[in-house]
Amino acid sequence: MTEWQQGIDRRLPWLGSAVTITPLQNPRWLAWSDATAALLELQQTPQLLALCNGEQSLPWPPFAQVYSGHQFGGYTPQLGDGRGASLGMRNGWELFVKGSGPTPYSRQGDGRAVLRSALREFLASEALHHLGIATTRALGLIGSDTPVYREQPETGALTLRVTRSHLRFGHFEYFHYTGQHDRLAALVDEAISQLFPHLREHPQRQLLWFTEVVERSAQLAADWQAFGFCHGVLNSDNMSILGETFDYGPFAFLNQFSAGYICNHSDHHGRYAFDQQPGVVLWNLQRLGQALSSQLTAAQIRSALAQYEPALVARYLQRFADRLGLTNTNHDDLPLIAGLLQLLESQRLDYHISLRRLAECDPNAANSPLGAASQSWWQQYQQRLGAITDVPRWQQQRRAANPAIILRTHLAQQAISAAEADDLAPLQRLHQALTRPYDPQPEDHHYCQEAPPWSQTLTLSCSS
Ligand code: AMP
Ligand code: MG
Repeated sequence: MTEWQQGIDRRLPWLGSAVTITPLQNPRWLAWSDATAALLELQQTPQLLALCNGEQSLPWPPFAQVYSGHQFGGYTPQLGDGRGASLGMRNGWELFVKGSGPTPYSRQGDGRAVLRSALREFLASEALHHLGIATTRALGLIGSDTPVYREQPETGALTLRVTRSHLRFGHFEYFHYTGQHDRLAALVDEAISQLFPHLREHPQRQLLWFTEVVERSAQLAADWQAFGFCHGVLNSDNMSILGETFDYGPFAFLNQFSAGYICNHSDHHGRYAFDQQPGVVLWNLQRLGQALSSQLTAAQIRSALAQYEPALVARYLQRFADRLGLTNTNHDDLPLIAGLLQLLESQRLDYHISLRRLAECDPNAANSPLGAASQSWWQQYQQRLGAITDVPRWQQQRRAANPAIILRTHLAQQAISAAEADDLAPLQRLHQALTRPYDPQPEDHHYCQEAPPWSQTLTLSCSS
């Protein structure tokens, strides 16, 4: 029998504050993930709804954590869970409600999340997971009648977020910059013993741990680049030490390939543009390294950070080897990949559809499936592939690495508009489709299309 257990606050009560949840009016289930529910062995019951909405409680109070972080390049000395709290753990998975009202860390905020942003986080968590990209998970989405004011009146909602740990780079920065080095050391110990148990007994465990955080973060950045995902707000407080995609805000998947694409309307200088992500993840790791300077020597920090680029390139090559069918891939393949991306950008081709088209084509055909302008790239690619003898098998493997269904901004927006008008069917259909991105069913046809022209005017900002 799975039982609820108290989370990290049982061992490290100074990590934040006990809080109360401010209930939303007329709460109701809007979405539910069976896959996430299976991890915690939970069911979509009225009792769970009441627990998440603060109308019932576990034997301990909800807990909001304190952290700080570098936001858009500048240090903010105190952040924290300003609109959410952890309820507890089941099977080693922590359940966090996001949008549950003010906490001691809310600053000027109202502690709420509006339906559109909660729904986007729910869908994104499901989408990335089923694509095979590390992410926090989502258990469910709860809607309400509580008014929440942004640019206009909206309604409040809760995303039920699930992960093994909510520890962020910003936690370590907080305890470092406030000079609480004993607590920082305890936090590192906790992270290692709970989340990296294979390192627990090692005499160099702190160094190996930081190195593994560097490698996992590099792999995550490579996965985002390979799947055309733009996070939008890569502040160090939105970076998980588990190397998971964390804190969804104005994220977007690319449509037409554009290296410098900026999804966050509030990001005026493109700090978090698509092609800046690998660099900015390293920059955040450098900030984490700095925060660990009481625990590791400068040489150790440098040696861990030096693993970033090799880990990034290895993962990026591996992802594109799978997507393009390249065997024994190595650095010599990077120009072929870069050539494809330049071609997509210059021809204004859709990123995901073009790769799926390559996956479904006859690799021995004379003409490129991506049009006349791509003919010389196609010939280079064919030369690299060599003759493919078992074409059906090759195509099957390529389809399994090249998703047909992507959570495009306009698809999320259609689900949001319907849900705001109390029609949950589009949300449910899209959610189902996102759980089988590599294996679209006939009814998924319209999810596999290019973004319509009207969607180009959709804007995403930090306002959520
Ligand atoms: P985010 O941009 O969502 O990662 O949030 C940055 C920080 O602001 C985090 O500490 C959040 O908890 C906090 N925050 C964001 N929105 C709100 C809000 N509506 N009310 C209170 N705190 C918020
Ligand atoms: Mg955040």
